[in-house]
Amino acid sequence: MDLASYAELAVRLVNTRTPEGDRLSDLDQLRELLTLGPHLSGRVGRPDLEAMHQLRADLHAIFEAVDAGDEGAAAEGLNALLLQHPVHPQISGHDGHRWHLHISESGSVPDRYAAGAAMGLAVYVSAEGLDRLAICRSAPCQNVFIDTSSNRSRRYCSDGCAGRAEPAMHAGSQAGVPGGPSRSDGLGQ
Ligand SMILES: [Zn+2]
Repeated sequence: MDLASYAELAVRLVNTRTPEGDRLSDLDQLRELLTLGPHLSGRVGRPDLEAMHQLRADLHAIFEAVDAGDEGAAAEGLNALLLQHPVHPQISGHDGHRWHLHISESGSVPDRYAAGAAMGLAVYVSAEGLDRLAICRSAPCQNVFIDTSSNRSRRYCSDGCAGRAEPAMHAGSQAGVPGGPSRSDGLGQ
């Protein structure tokens, strides 16, 4: 994993909150999430699940702050996580891979997850900008995602959400609704 790719941990965790319910409500679901990275192995219990819920809320707040146009608050939230969950970098050359950096080899599972997610986001937004952090515009989807498009114009978390949303948007503009419906106003130009 390169450092920026750890940002995916943040996205995957936040997106366990869905309109249909919580996909991180028990330890089995937590263990499944932890298969994302080999550095996330270890025993987990109820307190870890609670810590992950807190981390999820903190990460979600960062995406929401960006969505609300408040990059200062987003940066503050991310900096707080970086302080709270310091990285413990180690180089590793396991399983025939060339030497590479692991950023969180010690601490509890939630600490390692948090350190990876926060550092991944920090590295990514330092290079590309906080405005890359986005929330899907296709209601009721609330997924967050990282907009890697060259013109920063991605509006939906997936092709499925784009397909569902676009016809509604065209219907809105044909009906003379200025700028299209609801949350899409002024975005993606
Ligand atoms: Zn979506």
